[in-house]
Amino acid sequence: MFTLISLPYAPDALEPVISAQTLGFHHGKHLQGYVNNLNAALPGSGFEGLELEEIVKKASGGIFNNAGQILNHNLYFTQFRAPGQAGGDGKADNAPVGTIAAQIVKQFGSVEAFQAEFVAKGAGLFGSGWVWLSADEKGELVITQEPGAGNPVTKGLKPLLTFDVWEHAYYLDYQNRRPDHLKALWSIVNWEEIERRYTL
Ligand code: MN
Repeated sequence: MFTLISLPYAPDALEPVISAQTLGFHHGKHLQGYVNNLNAALPGSGFEGLELEEIVKKASGGIFNNAGQILNHNLYFTQFRAPGQAGGDGKADNAPVGTIAAQIVKQFGSVEAFQAEFVAKGAGLFGSGWVWLSADEKGELVITQEPGAGNPVTKGLKPLLTFDVWEHAYYLDYQNRRPDHLKALWSIVNWEEIERRYTL
């Protein structure tokens, strides 16, 4: 049985970037729905008792979609912090830290160039899906677009950071302005958490 993760911040903590209303639907309704669907589909499937990541690597169809969406949202919701919290200044220059900061500059030239490419790939993904920053086995960073419930673990990559481009992630707050929503997310990324995942 999988359970809904608890959010590591208050429901209104990410405002104005993500409203309490969006967060309430996204976490309490959409993610809860994926958890319920997966729990209902698991008995007799052969995937009972496996870790979520293993299910995502091995399953297809509805089990893959629901397990993938749980894994994706668990990573998504735990990568944010309130603007202005310790380590973040709540502004657009909320910056990467540690070894991942150095790797971003080495590969992309600057944090700004990395962010522009990441947002462009999220904005340019047709339909619903996710844009990901991952690391390969050598620690090289990779940006990928994943449609639907896709997660880069299926390509042997370690997922570090993701922006959800399903409309349910932003439509109440930004309507059709997906690029504006994606740009605003930089101010609430918890770069200490991304560094922790990178160095794990
Ligand atoms: Mn979502």
